[in-house]
Amino acid sequence: MYERVCLVHYHEIGLKGRNRANFEHRLLSNMEAALCDYPVRSCERISGHLLVDLEDSSAVDEVADLLLQMPGVARVSRAWRTARDPQEYCHAAELALMDNGPFETFKVNARRSNTDYEIDSMQLNQLVGAHLCEFAPDKKVKMKHPDVEVHVDVVQGSVYVYSRSDRGVGGLPVGTAGKVVSLISGGIDSPVATWRIMKRGAVVVGVHFSGRPQTSDASEYVVDDLAHALEPAGGIGRIYSVDFGDYQRAIASSCPPQLRIILYRRLMFRVAERIARIEKAKALVTGESLGQVASQTLDNINTVNSVVSLPVLRPLIGSDKVEIVETAERIGTFEISSRPAEDCCTLFMPRSPETHAHIGQCEEAEKDFPIDQWVDEIIENLEWKDYPCPTYHAPGKFRK
Ligand code: ATP
Ligand code: MG
Repeated sequence: MYERVCLVHYHEIGLKGRNRANFEHRLLSNMEAALCDYPVRSCERISGHLLVDLEDSSAVDEVADLLLQMPGVARVSRAWRTARDPQEYCHAAELALMDNGPFETFKVNARRSNTDYEIDSMQLNQLVGAHLCEFAPDKKVKMKHPDVEVHVDVVQGSVYVYSRSDRGVGGLPVGTAGKVVSLISGGIDSPVATWRIMKRGAVVVGVHFSGRPQTSDASEYVVDDLAHALEPAGGIGRIYSVDFGDYQRAIASSCPPQLRIILYRRLMFRVAERIARIEKAKALVTGESLGQVASQTLDNINTVNSVVSLPVLRPLIGSDKVEIVETAERIGTFEISSRPAEDCCTLFMPRSPETHAHIGQCEEAEKDFPIDQWVDEIIENLEWKDYPCPTYHAPGKFRK
């Protein structure tokens, strides 16, 4: 009967001047890219919202559910669009009133963005309110905290009527914060860290170290599934994978066992930083959380950190495992990360890892390793896979 549309709301706090235009432009083009396979006619800016115009009204829920997962989207409302005809929008208000399941109280919240419509906001509230009171005589009008709030927005030649408005992930549109290289292990933490940083607008290039050829490639499949689970957020451009097993074996065979993990990590960080330089990424990201495991004490973080000069972002540093697991469940990565998959983390693990390593101790243990040569070799043998991310641009060195 009436066309369905999605109205996308974003937080405007801190969005001033050019920032705001960049933000809107980026969010619009991310939405267009994400929705390219959906029956969508257009995405455009209208009066402080972004409007997604559907070719097929029955796709409204599918489209809204996708939009809710996109960084930068604060809320999505599923609206009916009518002409500026009281009969039409009053009827749509009936549909909106019933759109949220059982309720007892409601109110109408009307807004007129164009003063060329003769009925102002107050009059609209009264008109639609009176209509709904007649339509649902057993329900009560309540101004503060009603069960249902029916919005009636007059914008340009149309009226948008809705009550269902769901909270999105918020944050900033991918592509507004530059590029990072995220170390993704396939465990629970790093996908959550990756998602958090994407949510702040960063484009992510992942790097995964597998145990190959000492283990199977199972962890690479896990990481690929994780990337697909995070696809609706649209922030992962590419994931590099490194066959790390032989390097771990070389390290494990001639260093004090308690330093193994730290030396693996130091090599991982050096490789990740080299990739970041090639990708022109401005920071590294890890899923570390302070004190969670032996390798994540301040001393050990410091010894690993000391081999790189780019900033290392640790979005989960202050989060408890319970909080991380809750987020992982919400974003759909928990089940994938929980699958048993042999990876390089399980390879050549010492019985009691060092919890307070010193930089000097690590340098001494590494001095006979051809570290630079290893990093060069790893970079030359990198494999990668690309994912849909409209703001990712592959570096010249690794363009297919
Ligand atoms: P996760 O749940 O992300 O695996 P974790 O609790 O197992 O983290 P660690 O094993 O100490 O913690 O790893 C700390 C961080 O180092 C990871 O969050 C990840 O960013 C990075 N990392 C560890 N192993 C790998 C790997 N095989 N490939 C890529 N990054 C890794
Ligand atoms: Mg792990």
